[in-house]
Amino acid sequence: INNLSMDKLTPVQLAELDRKHFLHPTTNPKAHAENGPKAMFSEGKGIYVSEMEGVPYIDGVSMLWNVNIGHGNQEIAEVAKEQMSKLAYSSSFNGFSNEPAVRLAEKLATLAPGNLNSVFFTSGGSESNDTAFKLARFYWELNRKPLKRKIIALGNSYHGVTIAAQTATSIPNFHSFTNSKIKEVFHAKPHLTECERGDKNHPDYEGCIRDIVEKEGADTIAAVIMEPVQGAGGVHIPPEGYMAAVRKLCDDFNILLIADEVITGFGRTGTMFGSENWEAIPDLLCFAKGVTSGYAQLGGVMLSQNVRDTIVEYEEVLSHGFTYSGHATSCAVALKNIEIIERENLVANAKNMEVKLKAGLEYLSEKHKIVTKPRAIGLLSAIDLYQDPANNVPFEEGVMAAAKVWEACFERKLIARPIRFAKGMNTIALAPPLIINNQQIEDVVGILDDAISEFSKSL
Ligand code: PLP
Repeated sequence: INNLSMDKLTPVQLAELDRKHFLHPTTNPKAHAENGPKAMFSEGKGIYVSEMEGVPYIDGVSMLWNVNIGHGNQEIAEVAKEQMSKLAYSSSFNGFSNEPAVRLAEKLATLAPGNLNSVFFTSGGSESNDTAFKLARFYWELNRKPLKRKIIALGNSYHGVTIAAQTATSIPNFHSFTNSKIKEVFHAKPHLTECERGDKNHPDYEGCIRDIVEKEGADTIAAVIMEPVQGAGGVHIPPEGYMAAVRKLCDDFNILLIADEVITGFGRTGTMFGSENWEAIPDLLCFAKGVTSGYAQLGGVMLSQNVRDTIVEYEEVLSHGFTYSGHATSCAVALKNIEIIERENLVANAKNMEVKLKAGLEYLSEKHKIVTKPRAIGLLSAIDLYQDPANNVPFEEGVMAAAKVWEACFERKLIARPIRFAKGMNTIALAPPLIINNQQIEDVVGILDDAISEFSKSL
């Protein structure tokens, strides 16, 4: 296939090149090298993506929960072109700066809750979490508490795959991949399963974090990191008051709270940031994905005034930074993306559509015996599949319930997301673009309904 120009490659030729030359993330390498790509997308418009000359799919998960404004937005393409033509990129090291990065930093300060007033830019979510861990430790070093280094994360969490973020991630395969871990990261049992304590009137869901703090000693703990709503770990919406209780626990023990808002930021849960649902303001807030809706790579960590004030007293070079920190084109894209989110009222739309989506998922759980726990917050939602939900009997591993329902959806042109990392876990997540309308939600639920019916018949 040497010397073939891109526009002359057929889908079959592309698949052949993919098979040989492209090692895919979070994909079975052997199956991929043998079979090639599952889909080769070439176009996107609104909530739909298509393969070359193919029937469009509904993108029911905004790809990786990130394409918040939907695909094919020409305004964003224009802004990227304009910025690239003028100044695609300039360094942010050594005090260099550029206008889109400055404007975005100021815009984020106005959007973020509380006094999260400044930002350290990265290129994505994992880098943001690694950065937050370092900034938390640096903050304590500057406060003459260098022993405060440990990080507490929650069970079921996903924080990314760079080595520190991967250690904080607690999804088993990701957590242990190649056994690449840092020290001093601890996991508390998650709020929705093992850590239900206290009574109805005085729940103590955060008690599992407190146990670690008391065992390790608060004077050794730098930060607690949590997703306001856990995403990749199974779409777990915390009980009312949970995040506020964690905030209080952090205050009581002089520990920083890091909110990983990589999924929940920029409208996904029906508020601009997920933390706002629980009126808990973190000290460090990590974002990525929805900040550009996937049109360019960007992430960052927002700092509270207190953390920032401490850091800006430091008189030497802050030895941390990425080549693409404050990337001019990515920042210009983010500014336009945020403008669109605000102008089109997409946060409110996510909140409104939550009602419709949740009702659809509830309908599925009433209709299908195997469907349980319909849940949604904004446009972050899921159902679980159980052989016998009433008696808490999961499907056997070999049944591959989530994988099969996902496949049946895919055949019907809906991209959903199967989650099945733990024994007996079969979750189907949906997180469509925030531009979705009533009719399109009906289409999504209708396809999922058919897919579940087909799977049920096969049992
Ligand atoms: N944090 C959360 C909550 C995520 O969902 C993800 C990605 O899915 C990440 C961090 C990692 O982000 P990235 O893949 O951009 O490194």
